[in-house]
Amino acid sequence: MIHFLELKRLNAPYAEELKEACSRVIDSGWYILGSETKQFESQFAQFCGTKFCIGVANGLDALTLTLKAWIELGKVEKGDEVIVPANTYIASVLAVTEAGLTPVFVEPEERSHNICPQKIKDAVSSKTKVILPVHLYGQLADMKPIMEIAKEFDLLVLEDSAQAHGAELDGKKAGSWGDASGFSFYPGKNLGALGDGGAITTDDESLAKTLVALRNYGSHVKYENLYQGHNSRLDEIQSAMLAVKLKYLPTEIANRRKVAEFYRSEINNPLISLPEVDLQSAHVWHLFVVRTEHREALANHLIEHGVQTQVHYPIVPYKQEAYREYQHISLPLAERLQDEVLSIPISPYIDIEEQKKVITAMNSFMI
Ligand SMILES: *Cc1c(COP(=O)(O)O)cnc(C)c1O
Repeated sequence: MIHFLELKRLNAPYAEELKEACSRVIDSGWYILGSETKQFESQFAQFCGTKFCIGVANGLDALTLTLKAWIELGKVEKGDEVIVPANTYIASVLAVTEAGLTPVFVEPEERSHNICPQKIKDAVSSKTKVILPVHLYGQLADMKPIMEIAKEFDLLVLEDSAQAHGAELDGKKAGSWGDASGFSFYPGKNLGALGDGGAITTDDESLAKTLVALRNYGSHVKYENLYQGHNSRLDEIQSAMLAVKLKYLPTEIANRRKVAEFYRSEINNPLISLPEVDLQSAHVWHLFVVRTEHREALANHLIEHGVQTQVHYPIVPYKQEAYREYQHISLPLAERLQDEVLSIPISPYIDIEEQKKVITAMNSFMI
Protein backbone atom coordinates (compact mmCIF):
# COMPACT_ATOMS: atom_id res chain seq x y z
CA MET A 1 0.00 0.00 0.00
CA ILE A 2 1.24 3.47 -0.86
CA HIS A 3 0.12 5.41 2.19
CA PHE A 4 -0.97 9.01 1.87
CA LEU A 5 1.87 10.09 4.18
CA GLU A 6 4.21 8.11 6.44
CA LEU A 7 5.72 10.34 9.11
CA LYS A 8 8.28 7.75 10.19
CA ARG A 9 9.63 7.51 6.66
CA LEU A 10 9.55 11.30 6.31
CA ASN A 11 11.77 11.77 9.37
CA ALA A 12 13.95 8.64 9.00
CA PRO A 13 16.77 10.36 7.03
CA TYR A 14 17.26 12.80 9.92
CA ALA A 15 16.59 10.45 12.83
CA GLU A 16 20.14 10.45 14.17
CA GLU A 17 20.47 14.20 13.96
CA LEU A 18 17.06 14.68 15.58
CA LYS A 19 18.02 12.36 18.45
CA GLU A 20 21.26 14.26 19.03
CA ALA A 21 19.40 17.58 19.08
CA CYS A 22 16.84 16.12 21.48
CA SER A 23 19.59 14.89 23.83
CA ARG A 24 21.21 18.32 23.73
CA VAL A 25 17.96 19.92 24.94
CA ILE A 26 17.39 17.27 27.62
CA ASP A 27 20.90 17.82 28.95
CA SER A 28 20.52 21.61 28.89
CA GLY A 29 17.80 21.53 31.54
CA TRP A 30 15.98 24.46 29.83
CA TYR A 31 12.74 23.51 28.07
CA ILE A 32 10.62 26.60 27.40
CA LEU A 33 11.63 29.95 25.81
CA GLY A 34 15.36 29.44 25.67
CA SER A 35 18.21 29.54 23.19
CA GLU A 36 16.87 26.78 20.88
CA THR A 37 13.66 28.69 20.20
CA LYS A 38 15.53 31.99 19.78
CA GLN A 39 17.87 30.38 17.29
CA PHE A 40 15.13 28.69 15.27
CA GLU A 41 13.09 31.92 15.21
CA SER A 42 16.03 33.80 13.79
CA GLN A 43 16.78 31.07 11.22
CA PHE A 44 13.16 30.89 10.09
CA ALA A 45 12.86 34.70 9.83
CA GLN A 46 15.97 34.64 7.65
CA PHE A 47 14.57 31.80 5.54
CA CYS A 48 11.34 33.73 4.93
CA GLY A 49 13.07 37.07 4.44
CA THR A 50 11.41 38.86 7.37
CA LYS A 51 12.82 40.79 10.32
CA PHE A 52 10.95 38.86 13.00
CA CYS A 53 9.68 35.36 13.72
CA ILE A 54 7.73 34.53 16.86
CA GLY A 55 7.33 30.85 17.72
CA VAL A 56 3.94 29.77 19.09
CA ALA A 57 2.19 26.50 19.99
CA ASN A 58 0.51 25.79 16.62
CA GLY A 59 -0.69 27.28 13.34
CA LEU A 60 -4.16 28.17 14.60
CA ASP A 61 -2.66 30.22 17.44
CA ALA A 62 -0.28 31.94 15.01
CA LEU A 63 -3.30 33.33 13.14
CA THR A 64 -5.47 33.98 16.23
CA LEU A 65 -2.74 35.77 18.18
CA THR A 66 -1.88 38.01 15.23
CA LEU A 67 -5.49 39.16 14.91
CA LYS A 68 -5.67 39.68 18.69
CA ALA A 69 -2.40 41.65 18.59
CA TRP A 70 -3.86 43.96 15.95
CA ILE A 71 -6.86 44.48 18.24
CA GLU A 72 -4.53 45.31 21.16
CA LEU A 73 -2.62 47.72 18.90
CA GLY A 74 -5.87 49.47 17.94
CA LYS A 75 -5.61 48.53 14.25
CA VAL A 76 -8.66 46.27 14.27
CA GLU A 77 -11.80 46.36 16.42
CA LYS A 78 -14.08 43.57 17.59
CA GLY A 79 -16.81 43.01 15.01
CA ASP A 80 -14.66 44.13 12.06
CA GLU A 81 -14.67 41.95 8.97
CA VAL A 82 -11.92 39.65 7.76
CA ILE A 83 -12.02 38.35 4.18
CA VAL A 84 -11.23 34.61 4.10
CA PRO A 85 -11.28 31.97 1.35
CA ALA A 86 -14.53 30.01 1.17
CA ASN A 87 -12.59 26.78 0.56
CA THR A 88 -9.94 26.65 3.27
CA TYR A 89 -9.14 24.48 6.26
CA ILE A 90 -11.39 25.54 9.13
CA ALA A 91 -8.45 26.85 11.20
CA SER A 92 -8.22 29.98 9.01
CA VAL A 93 -11.82 30.81 9.97
CA LEU A 94 -11.60 29.69 13.63
CA ALA A 95 -8.81 32.26 14.13
CA VAL A 96 -11.12 35.02 12.91
CA THR A 97 -14.07 34.13 15.14
CA GLU A 98 -11.84 33.35 18.15
CA ALA A 99 -10.52 36.93 17.90
CA GLY A 100 -14.11 38.25 17.93
CA LEU A 101 -14.04 39.23 14.25
CA THR A 102 -16.47 38.40 11.43
CA PRO A 103 -15.42 36.17 8.53
CA VAL A 104 -16.54 37.11 5.02
CA PHE A 105 -16.22 34.13 2.69
CA VAL A 106 -14.87 34.69 -0.81
CA GLU A 107 -14.81 32.29 -3.76
CA PRO A 108 -11.58 30.89 -5.25
CA GLU A 109 -10.20 31.11 -8.76
CA GLU A 110 -11.04 27.97 -10.69
CA ARG A 111 -7.46 27.46 -11.93
CA SER A 112 -5.56 27.57 -8.64
CA HIS A 113 -8.32 27.08 -6.03
CA ASN A 114 -6.77 30.10 -4.27
CA ILE A 115 -8.83 33.14 -3.28
CA CYS A 116 -9.85 35.34 -6.23
CA PRO A 117 -8.53 38.94 -6.05
CA GLN A 118 -11.46 40.40 -8.02
CA LYS A 119 -13.94 38.76 -5.66
CA ILE A 120 -11.98 40.09 -2.67
CA LYS A 121 -12.45 43.57 -4.10
CA ASP A 122 -16.19 42.97 -4.52
CA ALA A 123 -16.44 41.82 -0.88
CA VAL A 124 -14.72 44.85 0.71
CA SER A 125 -17.12 46.84 2.93
CA SER A 126 -16.72 49.74 5.37
CA LYS A 127 -16.18 47.13 8.12
CA THR A 128 -13.40 45.22 6.32
CA LYS A 129 -10.03 45.50 8.07
CA VAL A 130 -8.07 42.40 7.09
CA ILE A 131 -7.59 40.10 4.09
CA LEU A 132 -6.54 36.57 5.10
CA PRO A 133 -5.35 34.75 1.95
CA VAL A 134 -4.41 31.08 2.30
CA HIS A 135 -1.62 29.65 0.12
CA LEU A 136 -3.63 26.51 -0.49
CA TYR A 137 -1.89 23.18 -1.23
CA GLY A 138 1.49 25.01 -1.14
CA GLN A 139 0.84 27.48 -3.94
CA LEU A 140 1.07 31.20 -3.25
CA ALA A 141 -2.21 33.05 -3.58
CA ASP A 142 -2.20 35.80 -6.22
CA MET A 143 -0.37 38.15 -3.85
CA LYS A 144 0.46 41.05 -6.16
CA PRO A 145 -3.16 42.11 -6.84
CA ILE A 146 -4.11 41.21 -3.26
CA MET A 147 -1.49 43.62 -1.88
CA GLU A 148 -2.72 46.31 -4.30
CA ILE A 149 -6.29 45.90 -3.07
CA ALA A 150 -5.04 46.09 0.53
CA LYS A 151 -3.24 49.32 -0.26
CA GLU A 152 -6.22 50.81 -2.08
CA PHE A 153 -8.64 50.13 0.80
CA ASP A 154 -6.09 50.47 3.66
CA LEU A 155 -6.44 46.85 4.81
CA LEU A 156 -4.05 44.59 6.71
CA VAL A 157 -2.99 41.30 5.11
CA LEU A 158 -2.48 38.15 7.19
CA GLU A 159 -1.14 35.27 5.09
CA ASP A 160 -2.02 31.73 6.13
CA SER A 161 1.21 30.03 5.07
CA ALA A 162 0.56 26.77 6.94
CA GLN A 163 0.90 24.78 3.70
CA ALA A 164 3.49 26.92 1.90
CA HIS A 165 6.86 27.09 3.71
CA GLY A 166 9.36 28.20 1.06
CA ALA A 167 6.93 28.98 -1.79
CA GLU A 168 8.19 31.99 -3.70
CA LEU A 169 7.10 34.61 -6.23
CA ASP A 170 9.42 37.31 -7.64
CA GLY A 171 12.07 36.21 -5.13
CA LYS A 172 9.68 36.90 -2.22
CA LYS A 173 8.77 33.98 -0.01
CA ALA A 174 5.44 33.02 1.54
CA GLY A 175 5.39 34.77 4.89
CA SER A 176 6.99 37.97 3.61
CA TRP A 177 4.17 39.32 1.43
CA GLY A 178 1.59 40.43 3.97
CA ASP A 179 1.77 42.52 7.15
CA ALA A 180 2.16 39.20 8.95
CA SER A 181 1.93 35.49 8.25
CA GLY A 182 0.95 32.43 10.25
CA PHE A 183 2.80 29.13 9.85
CA SER A 184 2.03 25.65 11.19
CA PHE A 185 4.70 23.07 11.99
CA TYR A 186 2.22 20.23 12.50
CA PRO A 187 4.14 16.99 11.73
CA GLY A 188 2.51 16.48 8.31
CA LYS A 189 3.22 19.99 7.05
CA ASN A 190 6.14 20.65 4.66
CA LEU A 191 8.20 21.88 7.61
CA GLY A 192 6.94 19.64 10.39
CA ALA A 193 7.97 19.30 14.02
CA LEU A 194 7.68 16.05 16.00
CA GLY A 195 4.65 17.47 17.74
CA ASP A 196 2.71 20.72 17.49
CA GLY A 197 4.30 24.04 16.62
CA GLY A 198 3.65 27.29 14.80
CA ALA A 199 5.11 30.74 14.14
CA ILE A 200 4.33 34.23 12.94
CA THR A 201 6.64 36.11 10.59
CA THR A 202 6.51 39.89 10.19
CA ASP A 203 8.60 43.01 9.57
CA ASP A 204 6.53 45.02 12.04
CA GLU A 205 8.41 45.49 15.31
CA SER A 206 5.43 46.64 17.37
CA LEU A 207 3.42 43.62 16.22
CA ALA A 208 6.34 41.31 17.03
CA LYS A 209 6.64 42.77 20.54
CA THR A 210 2.92 42.42 21.17
CA LEU A 211 3.01 38.80 19.99
CA VAL A 212 5.96 37.99 22.24
CA ALA A 213 3.79 39.11 25.16
CA LEU A 214 0.52 37.56 23.95
CA ARG A 215 2.03 34.08 23.56
CA ASN A 216 3.28 34.23 27.15
CA TYR A 217 0.28 35.29 29.31
CA GLY A 218 0.34 38.83 27.92
CA SER A 219 3.50 39.49 29.87
CA HIS A 220 6.57 41.54 28.84
CA VAL A 221 8.17 41.40 32.26
CA LYS A 222 7.73 38.39 34.52
CA TYR A 223 4.55 38.70 36.63
CA GLU A 224 3.51 41.93 34.92
CA ASN A 225 0.67 41.44 32.45
CA LEU A 226 -0.13 44.02 29.78
CA TYR A 227 -2.74 41.91 28.00
CA GLN A 228 -5.09 39.02 28.68
CA GLY A 229 -2.67 36.72 26.91
CA HIS A 230 -2.45 33.04 26.03
CA ASN A 231 -0.09 30.24 26.92
CA SER A 232 1.09 29.47 23.38
CA ARG A 233 4.81 28.85 23.21
CA LEU A 234 6.97 26.85 20.82
CA ASP A 235 9.04 24.65 23.15
CA GLU A 236 12.78 24.04 23.10
CA ILE A 237 12.62 20.43 21.89
CA GLN A 238 10.34 21.25 18.95
CA SER A 239 12.52 24.28 18.09
CA ALA A 240 15.58 22.01 18.01
CA MET A 241 13.74 19.50 15.80
CA LEU A 242 12.65 22.27 13.44
CA ALA A 243 16.16 23.73 13.18
CA VAL A 244 17.38 20.32 11.96
CA LYS A 245 14.56 19.96 9.46
CA LEU A 246 14.79 23.53 8.12
CA LYS A 247 18.26 22.70 6.74
CA TYR A 248 16.77 20.00 4.53
CA LEU A 249 13.62 21.87 3.50
CA PRO A 250 15.00 23.20 0.17
CA THR A 251 16.01 19.65 -0.88
CA GLU A 252 12.63 18.31 0.17
CA ILE A 253 10.86 21.02 -1.84
CA ALA A 254 12.99 20.13 -4.89
CA ASN A 255 12.00 16.47 -4.47
CA ARG A 256 8.30 17.35 -4.18
CA ARG A 257 8.57 19.42 -7.39
CA LYS A 258 10.11 16.46 -9.25
CA VAL A 259 7.26 14.20 -8.16
CA ALA A 260 4.66 16.83 -9.16
CA GLU A 261 6.28 17.28 -12.59
CA PHE A 262 6.35 13.52 -13.16
CA TYR A 263 2.66 13.22 -12.21
CA ARG A 264 1.74 16.20 -14.38
CA SER A 265 3.56 14.84 -17.40
CA GLU A 266 2.43 11.20 -17.06
CA ILE A 267 -1.10 11.27 -15.67
CA ASN A 268 -3.35 11.50 -18.66
CA ASN A 269 -6.95 10.56 -18.02
CA PRO A 270 -9.83 12.61 -19.47
CA LEU A 271 -11.86 11.93 -16.32
CA ILE A 272 -9.27 13.65 -14.09
CA SER A 273 -8.17 17.33 -14.09
CA LEU A 274 -4.61 17.93 -12.93
CA PRO A 275 -3.46 20.94 -10.88
CA GLU A 276 -2.25 23.88 -12.95
CA VAL A 277 0.74 26.04 -12.04
CA ASP A 278 1.98 29.29 -13.53
CA LEU A 279 5.34 29.26 -11.85
CA GLN A 280 7.16 26.31 -10.26
CA SER A 281 8.82 28.45 -7.59
CA ALA A 282 5.41 29.64 -6.34
CA HIS A 283 4.41 26.05 -5.49
CA VAL A 284 5.93 23.74 -2.87
CA TRP A 285 3.42 20.89 -3.39
CA HIS A 286 2.26 20.27 0.16
CA LEU A 287 -0.66 18.53 -1.56
CA PHE A 288 -1.22 17.24 -5.09
CA VAL A 289 -4.92 17.86 -5.61
CA VAL A 290 -6.76 16.55 -8.67
CA ARG A 291 -10.37 17.18 -9.61
CA THR A 292 -12.95 14.72 -10.90
CA GLU A 293 -16.74 14.42 -11.06
CA HIS A 294 -16.31 10.78 -10.02
CA ARG A 295 -14.39 11.23 -6.79
CA GLU A 296 -15.74 8.31 -4.81
CA ALA A 297 -15.25 5.91 -7.71
CA LEU A 298 -11.71 7.18 -8.30
CA ALA A 299 -10.78 6.91 -4.60
CA ASN A 300 -12.13 3.33 -4.54
CA HIS A 301 -10.28 2.43 -7.73
CA LEU A 302 -7.03 3.82 -6.29
CA ILE A 303 -7.42 1.90 -3.03
CA GLU A 304 -7.96 -1.30 -5.03
CA HIS A 305 -4.65 -0.52 -6.73
CA GLY A 306 -2.89 0.09 -3.41
CA VAL A 307 -2.97 3.90 -3.39
CA GLN A 308 -4.36 5.80 -0.40
CA THR A 309 -5.93 9.23 -0.92
CA GLN A 310 -7.45 12.04 1.18
CA VAL A 311 -9.88 14.89 0.58
CA HIS A 312 -8.84 18.50 1.36
CA TYR A 313 -11.52 19.44 2.31
CA PRO A 314 -14.85 17.55 2.17
CA ILE A 315 -16.98 20.27 3.88
CA VAL A 316 -16.38 24.00 3.44
CA PRO A 317 -16.12 25.84 6.80
CA TYR A 318 -19.40 27.77 6.39
CA LYS A 319 -21.36 24.51 5.95
CA GLN A 320 -19.91 22.99 9.15
CA GLU A 321 -22.17 22.47 12.17
CA ALA A 322 -19.75 24.72 14.09
CA TYR A 323 -20.76 27.63 11.85
CA ARG A 324 -24.52 27.05 11.70
CA GLU A 325 -25.07 30.81 11.45
CA TYR A 326 -23.41 30.86 8.00
CA GLN A 327 -25.19 27.84 6.51
CA HIS A 328 -27.45 30.02 4.34
CA ILE A 329 -24.41 31.14 2.35
CA SER A 330 -24.14 29.65 -1.11
CA LEU A 331 -20.86 29.83 -3.05
CA PRO A 332 -21.08 27.48 -6.02
CA LEU A 333 -17.41 27.07 -6.94
CA ALA A 334 -16.23 26.39 -3.37
CA GLU A 335 -19.01 23.85 -3.01
CA ARG A 336 -18.21 22.17 -6.34
CA LEU A 337 -14.55 21.86 -5.30
CA GLN A 338 -15.58 20.37 -1.95
CA ASP A 339 -17.29 17.56 -3.91
CA GLU A 340 -14.65 17.04 -6.60
CA VAL A 341 -11.14 17.41 -5.09
CA LEU A 342 -8.95 14.42 -4.28
CA SER A 343 -5.38 14.48 -2.93
CA ILE A 344 -3.00 11.74 -4.09
CA PRO A 345 0.24 10.80 -2.28
CA ILE A 346 3.11 13.27 -2.64
CA SER A 347 6.14 13.55 -0.35
CA PRO A 348 9.88 14.16 -0.57
CA TYR A 349 10.58 10.41 -0.18
CA ILE A 350 8.08 8.70 -2.51
CA ASP A 351 10.26 6.63 -4.87
CA ILE A 352 10.06 6.25 -8.63
CA GLU A 353 8.40 2.81 -8.48
CA GLU A 354 5.69 4.15 -6.17
CA GLN A 355 5.16 7.19 -8.40
CA LYS A 356 4.75 4.90 -11.42
CA LYS A 357 2.23 2.80 -9.50
CA VAL A 358 0.20 5.94 -8.69
CA ILE A 359 0.35 7.05 -12.34
CA THR A 360 -0.70 3.62 -13.68
CA ALA A 361 -3.61 3.49 -11.24
CA MET A 362 -4.73 7.02 -12.18
CA ASN A 363 -4.54 6.26 -15.91
CA SER A 364 -6.43 2.96 -15.66
CA PHE A 365 -9.47 4.59 -14.02
CA MET A 366 -12.65 4.23 -16.07
CA ILE A 367 -16.36 4.51 -15.33
C1 LIG B 1 -2.68 23.05 9.22
C2 LIG B 1 -3.34 24.34 8.89
C3 LIG B 1 -3.62 25.30 9.88
C4 LIG B 1 -3.53 25.03 11.35
O1 LIG B 1 -2.31 24.59 11.82
P1 LIG B 1 -2.24 23.79 13.22
O2 LIG B 1 -0.79 23.79 13.52
O3 LIG B 1 -2.79 22.43 12.97
O4 LIG B 1 -3.04 24.57 14.21
C5 LIG B 1 -4.13 26.52 9.47
N1 LIG B 1 -4.36 26.79 8.18
C6 LIG B 1 -4.13 25.88 7.21
C7 LIG B 1 -4.41 26.26 5.79
C8 LIG B 1 -3.62 24.63 7.53
O5 LIG B 1 -3.39 23.74 6.55
